This record gives sequence, structure tokens and C-alpha cells, in this order.
Amino acid sequence: MRIDIITIFADYFAPLDLSLIGRARESGLLDIRVHDLRTWTHDRHRTVDDTPYGGGPGMVMKPEPWGEALDEVTGQEGTDVAVPRLVLPTPSGVPFTQPHAERLSGEPWLVFACGRYEGIDSRFVADARERMPVEELSIGDYVLAGGESATLVMVEAVARLVPGVLGNADSAVQDSFAPGAMENLLEGAVYTKPPVWRGREVPPILLSGNHGAVDRWRRDEALRTTARNRPELLDEIPEHELDRRDQEV
Ligand code: SAM
Repeated sequence: MRIDIITIFADYFAPLDLSLIGRARESGLLDIRVHDLRTWTHDRHRTVDDTPYGGGPGMVMKPEPWGEALDEVTGQEGTDVAVPRLVLPTPSGVPFTQPHAERLSGEPWLVFACGRYEGIDSRFVADARERMPVEELSIGDYVLAGGESATLVMVEAVARLVPGVLGNADSAVQDSFAPGAMENLLEGAVYTKPPVWRGREVPPILLSGNHGAVDRWRRDEALRTTARNRPELLDEIPEHELDRRDQEV
């Protein structure tokens, strides 16, 4: 998968050299390219913003550098795919959820445009929509200073689902929100060695070797955790997916 990120703070993306994503980049599974938006400015001050039409506080990002940046980045050689999908992180976007991460992980090419200040002149988005699919996505109901941290969040959520990026593909299947049995559930408590720590024992069932009983215990834990932290999710589980034991938890 190829991912291009356009930003005025390229250094923000240093963490993409670390851990899972760093290894996936080294192995060639992920081709991530970070671009400095100011490359596409033409004045001495490398200006990317201006005052908003209609007045009001703050500054708005100018459409010209964004337009040129997108033209050049999407016109670059090095991919078999003609058109990428453009992702615009914005608090006014559709909430980004695990199904988005699943779907985007199947895309061959994503471009992220990181806004700052009061956002990017809307004509940039309208212009891009004429040439490629565009998604405006929000990572939560709060306002960040810029799209960089939101992009890091989305890139990590998407990239770990790209086949081969996770060491053990099964771990994603058992995660909170994973499609299938965990779709509207949160993962419950997890434990590792030692069996007793500060007088606290690991639940004996996990040491029993009885896989059926362990699966049942994990489902009960997931139901309890979801009921405690996100009870509204339980209403989304279709009746036919709940068995008698689920109802008793
Ligand atoms: N004026 C905008 C509004 O009220 O919707 C907020 C702009 S915010 C200060 C600057 C940039 O941060 C946005 O253009 C966007 O790229 C990013 N951003 C802020 N909050 C975000 C969120 N919850 N999800 C995704 N991106 C966000």
C-alpha cells in the first residue's frame, strides 16, 4: 500500500519509522511518503495561509499550494494505480471507526491532507472531488490543532490491518470492534505470566487448557466490559447473534 501525507510539519511523522509500521516500511509492505506543503509555495515567506473571507478570527489555508501539491503527488510515478483516495482529517467529518480502517486497508493508495489553522479553503476539496474519491473523516468530537495527529491515528489503524503488517494476523480478529464476533464488543481483561502477581491470581480458567471454556470466558468478559464502558454498543448486536449464555452475563 502506498500512503502520501501532505503537511506543513513533516517532522510530526517520525514515529512512522518505529515498531510495526517502521518494519512494514522497511520490508516494502508500506510505501509511506511525507511531503512538505511549503514546497508548493512561491513567495519568499512560503505562505500557506491567509485571512478568512467573511471576516472572523484565525487563518485559512490557501487553495493554491494544496492544489499544486495534490497535482504533483498524484501525478508521480511509482504506482500501478491511477487515482488515489484522498482522506481529509477534519472535526466536521464522518466519525472514523474500525469499519473505515478495514475498508481503507484494502485500498492500494491513500493521500492524507493535514489541515492547520481554521482548515483548508473548501475549493481545494471541491476540485479534488472531481478527480478522485474524497473522504472527510473525524477521529472524535473534539478539536485538535492540526490534522497531523489525526492522520497518525488513522494511518496506524489502517496500516496494522494491511496483510502481513501484524506478526500474527489472528490478533486483529480478536480485537475490540473486529468484524465478526467482536463487531460491537470491547475486548475484556487480558493476562500474562506470572500466574500470581502481588497476590492477584490469573483467572484459573485461563490456565485450564479447555479452549471452549476459555472462549466462553472471553466472550463473557467482552460483554461485561462493553456493558460497563459502552453500553450503547450492545444494542447494536442483532438478537440472533446473542445466545442464552450471553443474556445471563
Ligand atoms: N475550524 C475547524 C472547525 O471548527 O471544524 C477546526 C480546525 S482545526 C483547529 C485544524 C485542523 O485540525 C483541521 O483542519 C483538521 O485537519 C484537524 N483536526 C482538528 N480536529 C480534528 C478531529 N477531531 N479529527 C480530525 N482532524 C481534526
